Amino acid sequence: RPVLILFRDDLRIHDNRALSAAADTGAPVIPVYIRDREPARRDLGAARLWWLHHSLSELAGALQKLGAHLVLQAGPTATTLHTLIEETGATAVFWNRRYDPACIELDSSLKLDLRNRGLHVESFDGHLLHEPSLTKTGGGTSYKVFTPFWRSLSGHIEPRDPVDAPKALKPYPRKLASDDLKDWNLLPTAPDWAKRIREAWTPGETAARARLDDFLGDAIKGYAERRDLPSVNGTSRLSPHLAFGEITPFQIFRALRSKTIDAPTGDVDTFRKEVGWREFSYHLLFHNPDLATQNFNPSFDAFAWENDGKLLKAWQKGQTGYPIVDAGMRQLWQSGWMHNRVRMITASFLIKHLLVDWRKGEAWFWDTLVDADPANNAASWQWVAGSGADASPYFRIFNPILQGEKFDPKGDYIRRFVPELSELPDKYIHSPWAASKDVLDAAGVKLGTNYPVPVVDHKKARDRALQLYKRLKGPS
Ligand code: FAD
Repeated sequence: RPVLILFRDDLRIHDNRALSAAADTGAPVIPVYIRDREPARRDLGAARLWWLHHSLSELAGALQKLGAHLVLQAGPTATTLHTLIEETGATAVFWNRRYDPACIELDSSLKLDLRNRGLHVESFDGHLLHEPSLTKTGGGTSYKVFTPFWRSLSGHIEPRDPVDAPKALKPYPRKLASDDLKDWNLLPTAPDWAKRIREAWTPGETAARARLDDFLGDAIKGYAERRDLPSVNGTSRLSPHLAFGEITPFQIFRALRSKTIDAPTGDVDTFRKEVGWREFSYHLLFHNPDLATQNFNPSFDAFAWENDGKLLKAWQKGQTGYPIVDAGMRQLWQSGWMHNRVRMITASFLIKHLLVDWRKGEAWFWDTLVDADPANNAASWQWVAGSGADASPYFRIFNPILQGEKFDPKGDYIRRFVPELSELPDKYIHSPWAASKDVLDAAGVKLGTNYPVPVVDHKKARDRALQLYKRLKGPS
């Protein structure tokens, strides 16, 4: 009798302990992906749905080569599984663990339900290096500050080695009903907005592994410094692959231990630490299930957000009149990704200059990022707002002009995403309003016509935000 392996946020065959365990039973293996619009879980944004289509398509091909046919079904997970189990007489179900609280609840009740029906159910690690329920401070509580969290984690464990993909899966002899991926309509129809996303990304496990190799062979050298420069290819861009589980942090850490990496220790350690922030975000989310909707620091509940709809729209469209902010928002819209430094600048601008509630920014990122992640997105937005655990202090208000001058000194990033400013001299690329009419004319820039005048004045906005933040009782 066969066994089932349930795929969710782990669209890979390598370092997939659930798949390996299913293969090790020696029974026929039926791989299943259920498109369940679990109400407790936010549905994916359009860019992630595009990614999901391609990733599932590659996974199906990889499983086919191993001898198994990926069954695609849409519907509630429990009832879909019950039907499959009745139809096939399956005796066991394997899966890899998910760590956001809504999914933990769903998976725990599913486990109980299936065990009550007499099935063997087993879950495995893979998404995270640490188990958030087991990692505790000396005082037995969860961590709220990154540095001790990471010191403890990186000091005490050397992550396990990844497991190989099974050599083959014993095929299930009968053909099972399966949806056609195309019928799930995950891809855009007209207009085909995914053109730039297609150019920027290749979803799937093979591309994830190639991206890691490329990064370790090249951009890791100088990562500690270059990771802050949005115009260069200085980071790994592994985030969407991690979000879909096409690669695991165990594979990344194993590769970082490899003797063939030719990069200074400082660069390797900085990269490990960034992956550590992902662990920390999940740690926070696990212990604070409302991280995406509730201020971690409740004194922020009293914050006087203005939530001006027009300003939110200007920000979303990259039309704020602040070039570095607009470049970032357009990079996001066009490619489904934004450089980390610019994520911080754009988020700070929305929250502090425009006084729009961080949750609205979090929701926009969720809808548009290919790497939208329930833990990283929520924790990072709260970090920028100052409402989070181990957050940026409330008085830290990113100056969009100085940030631009420091991290994109020649304006290369801005010229790429805000072409209407591309002819401006470097001196004015971050502050076009400061240029004389002659300079603007020569560059073909007409403020208020082909590029907006700033939607708020930086200094006034900064002072207003500081006053509002100071009024909160004891923000930290
Ligand atoms: P690299 O620099 O190559 O880092 C490697 C990996 O480490 C990343 O893929 C990511 O998994 C992890 N990582 C790096 N920086 C961070 C960080 N600050 N916090 C948590 N993990 C990190 N990241 C997401 O994966 N999904 C999100 O939805 C997301 N939303 C964000 C929202 C805001 C407002 C901010 C400021 C940051 C957000 N981040 C998010 C974190 C970070 O910007 C991205 O992980 C990073 O830009 C991805 O690019 P990369 O893979 O090239 O990163």
